[in-house]
Amino acid sequence: MRYQSTRDERLTAGFSQALVQGLAPDGGLYVPQHWPDVSRATLGGSRGLAQLAERLIGPFAAGDALEAAMGPISAEAFNFPAPLVPLEGERLGVLELFHGPTAAFKDFGARFLAACLSRLRGAESRPLTILVATSGDTGGAVAAAFHGRPGIEVVVLFPQGLVSPTQQQQLTCWGGNVRSFAVRGTFDDCQKLVKQAFLDERLRRSRALSSANSINLGRLLPQTVYYAATSLALAGAHGEPVSFVIPSGNLGNAVACIWARRLGLPIGEVVLAHNANRTVPDFLADGRWQPRPSIATLASAMDVGDPSNMERLRALYPQLDSVRAAVSACSVEDEAIRARIASDYRRRGRIWCPHTAVAAEAYARLSEERRRGGHWVLVATAHPAKFREIIEPLIGQQVPVPPALAALYARASEYQEIDADLGALRTALASGSG
Ligand SMILES: *Cc1c(COP(=O)(O)O)cnc(C)c1O
Repeated sequence: MRYQSTRDERLTAGFSQALVQGLAPDGGLYVPQHWPDVSRATLGGSRGLAQLAERLIGPFAAGDALEAAMGPISAEAFNFPAPLVPLEGERLGVLELFHGPTAAFKDFGARFLAACLSRLRGAESRPLTILVATSGDTGGAVAAAFHGRPGIEVVVLFPQGLVSPTQQQQLTCWGGNVRSFAVRGTFDDCQKLVKQAFLDERLRRSRALSSANSINLGRLLPQTVYYAATSLALAGAHGEPVSFVIPSGNLGNAVACIWARRLGLPIGEVVLAHNANRTVPDFLADGRWQPRPSIATLASAMDVGDPSNMERLRALYPQLDSVRAAVSACSVEDEAIRARIASDYRRRGRIWCPHTAVAAEAYARLSEERRRGGHWVLVATAHPAKFREIIEPLIGQQVPVPPALAALYARASEYQEIDADLGALRTALASGSG
């Protein structure tokens, strides 16, 4: 199996190479050259997420050095559950993706990528630096997944003052092989810095660089697994495809769902639930792609004005009509996020994180006909305890903290501030490596 750049089909890489590079050399994103045949019957007979992962992702590593290790890699990454909790009778459920070490869905991708890269380190002598830009949750998940792995250093870039105190603690509590930089800028600036670093000859000479952002294929592929598991279970019970409402920012989680559908899994509609960063909803409405600076919202992990994974969506659906047939999108303002958190707590006794609240609100805005016409799943991307500063005043209650998060909150925090330019990043990187 080979992968090609979204910008130039002649630039190809194998599975391991695509994972190590992160971004293709021309700045494009890797996509599969063809879609493997995965049998729904085989997948459906899997016991548990880890076995399903091995069967679903295994073919993507066909012919690669990691192919034989897909079983243990999947077992290592998928060691916590993704339960589907019914919400309103049989036709609406919540897919809870927040039962991992940092209580957000990004734990799945980060753990899979870490399990892969640590096996590839065996052959390399230079240490590997994982550069990761984060608008909140990515950095914590990646730091947790790589913390303590020999031969790998993690550098987390987050926008100073734009992540919640709780999130900041998760980005800065690691020490050891994890360093955290507070960038004087936005998430888009952090993301741009990572892209620049990858294209910078000087940096590339001094260290082996890799990305663990959602642009990395090794993060995206494992996210197909919970969509496969959920759609197989529900469609098995009801005989109908399953539709998902996905809190979206950089579109990594959504593209994973669309890839799962492309692989033949019984998935119906995909609704992209965005916050006030309207780049994608506006594009679907008027056909013009106009990336813009990100706006800070309550659902901060989705504050993305120029979603990278749009390139992967367009690679699959080059025509505007075909994108519009493949997905729909909606934009939810902060005020509606607050109202949804308060009302669903009162009416349903459910506490949403602000990102999941965007999906709950997007679902409520669908026509009655669409809602009644299918089996729907709201994707719950983070545990509400990560955003207790926002949620507790809205529901008038404390949010219970899961033990994994409580352990992170107890650690000491350490980080360094840097300007949002490549020179500052080069200097900071050089000063810390021992
Ligand atoms: C990252 C994140 C999102 C957005 O996911 P993308 O793959 O970037 O679209 C949504 N919710 C939470 C809690 C996140 O951490």
